Amino acid sequence: MISAARSVKTAGSVRIPTMPSQIKYVLASDIGGTNMRAALADRSGSLVARGSCATEPEKGLPSAEERLRALFEKVASGVPREQVGGVVLSSAGPIDPTTGVYVHPPNLPGWHGKTMKPGLATSLNLPVTIGHDATLGALAESRYGVGKDAQHLLYVTLSTGVGGGIITNGQMVTGAHGHAGEMGHLLVRPGGQSCNVGCDGCLEGIASGGGIARATVTAIENGRSTRMLEMVGGDTSAISSQIVFEAAADGDTLAVEVVESVVDAVATGFADILNTLDPEYLVVGGAVTGALQPYWSDLEALIEDKALPHFKDAVPLYVSLLGDDVSLVGAAAHAFDLADSVSG
Ligand SMILES: [Zn+2]
Repeated sequence: MISAARSVKTAGSVRIPTMPSQIKYVLASDIGGTNMRAALADRSGSLVARGSCATEPEKGLPSAEERLRALFEKVASGVPREQVGGVVLSSAGPIDPTTGVYVHPPNLPGWHGKTMKPGLATSLNLPVTIGHDATLGALAESRYGVGKDAQHLLYVTLSTGVGGGIITNGQMVTGAHGHAGEMGHLLVRPGGQSCNVGCDGCLEGIASGGGIARATVTAIENGRSTRMLEMVGGDTSAISSQIVFEAAADGDTLAVEVVESVVDAVATGFADILNTLDPEYLVVGGAVTGALQPYWSDLEALIEDKALPHFKDAVPLYVSLLGDDVSLVGAAAHAFDLADSVSG
């Protein structure tokens, strides 16, 4: 649970009771390349009002900023403004966590060098903070998710990309520049298929949705036969990770090979991060995690093989319960922490 503001301050030897924080709500947003979501959250972690709209990045950042501001006004319209503590934005990036300036964001074309942080702070008259989406996901899991009250937790999302966040001693680990936790770029198979950033054989290159599709198409182009070609009417550009998992479930040899390669890569990456950070929980979310469920016991067994011996029969692997809301809930938790650190 989010802790309430400290109720007592000391002044010399006299303990003076203070008013509980009047902050009852915060605003959270999750900005992706396709959709922007906004929510009003309360201290229980509930998203009590929410809205979303298309990001339409090609219309430019000022257009998106204005639509996001309108969403915030809408979700906060039912509560007194003095009860709203602040705003935390979880955004697709790369984004400078201090200034909110985007740095060549691949999924937000045209937003490079721009920021909506100062404009939103002015128009909403609230402090605006930028968070790293997977790190906020880790915070959410440690406060409200499967790892509730955990002090040491890792969150990994296996999806279009592969992201990660770290909680140590109950705190988000952000690193010197706000980029800590990029577990998607662990080199799990040096020289293997590269990710969009260009590292050869990283976890994202092999186990992201796009990586799974590309590995399959490459094998087909190299002459492998597969029923997947029939499934997509001969159009290899229509092969997605979903198609691959469907074909694997039907026993298609190539699809099974690709999925086994993904499970092996994920196990290698997870063994590395378990050995490095020794968490109580390793929580995994994202669409690829859902598709991997039939292979979960294989994954756990492989992690045991690859990790240090003390993880034998003790791999702390869990599936996220917060689903698509994980970054929004984490943004809300962070916003309350920030509001309480000011008012407490
Ligand atoms: Zn990479």
